[in-house]
Amino acid sequence: MYYIKHISLLVTCLLFLTVTLATTAHAKEDQIYKVNADWLNIRNAPSEQAEIVGKLKRGNQVKIFGENSGWVQTYYNGNAVWVASKHLEPIQEKEVFLPDGLLAGYTIVIDPGHGGKDPGAIGHNGVLEKDLILVTSLKIAEQLTKSGAAVILTRADDSFVPLKDRVLISNKAETDAFISIHFNAFSEEYVGGINTYYYQSGQRLAKHIQHALSQEVPLRNRGVIQTNYRVLRDNKSPAILVELGFITNTTELATLQTESYQEKVARAITMGLIEYFWE
Ligand SMILES: [Zn+2]
Repeated sequence: MYYIKHISLLVTCLLFLTVTLATTAHAKEDQIYKVNADWLNIRNAPSEQAEIVGKLKRGNQVKIFGENSGWVQTYYNGNAVWVASKHLEPIQEKEVFLPDGLLAGYTIVIDPGHGGKDPGAIGHNGVLEKDLILVTSLKIAEQLTKSGAAVILTRADDSFVPLKDRVLISNKAETDAFISIHFNAFSEEYVGGINTYYYQSGQRLAKHIQHALSQEVPLRNRGVIQTNYRVLRDNKSPAILVELGFITNTTELATLQTESYQEKVARAITMGLIEYFWE
């Protein structure tokens, strides 16, 4: 199968795209670099004499977390390694792409919560959860489609869809993953962060998605939580529900409303799914 041949490259891509970035005095947080030489040796120490432990090729992307006179440190197969910085060039976040086609053959249901007569939570300045959910869900669907997935939206406009119908749509499509999109609310304005719910079969998916989100978005990681929401409980497929931030937190809401945040979420969910399916 075509994909099997590329599995080692894929694993490499994923490792580099999902490494934790620790800030140093020199490396910029969230800065991603790409290789601008045909091949770039990966070494176990910052020296031309050090052992070669792998190779990168032109266009590969790395996140760095340290520098040492002409060498930068990154992760490779879970180990801290070094590459020569002269063969790397910084790229802007907008340019960061996900490998094409890695979700080909998978059917994903994106379930934008609430809608129509059900506004969901009401946030700061009268922002309705259902509206923010819809714009964010459309971004997620777009990114997943780009990555090759067949995406089914339980609603693509401001219509009301009963919970049982959402489950029915997922069960009929024999979906590979069901992801319900929500935003959170709380009486205390300072509360914030993201978390992912699962019932049973969605546990591993929840861990991957929450991890990918925590790597990509700047909000507090509230973790993975088991619950028996109907859309999860009655779903025959691995099903999760993500709460992508608190609309009752003024500062957080300002972030949630940006296109940049919504794109980060879309990328994180895509990465989380790729890791989940390919693990
Ligand atoms: Zn909700």
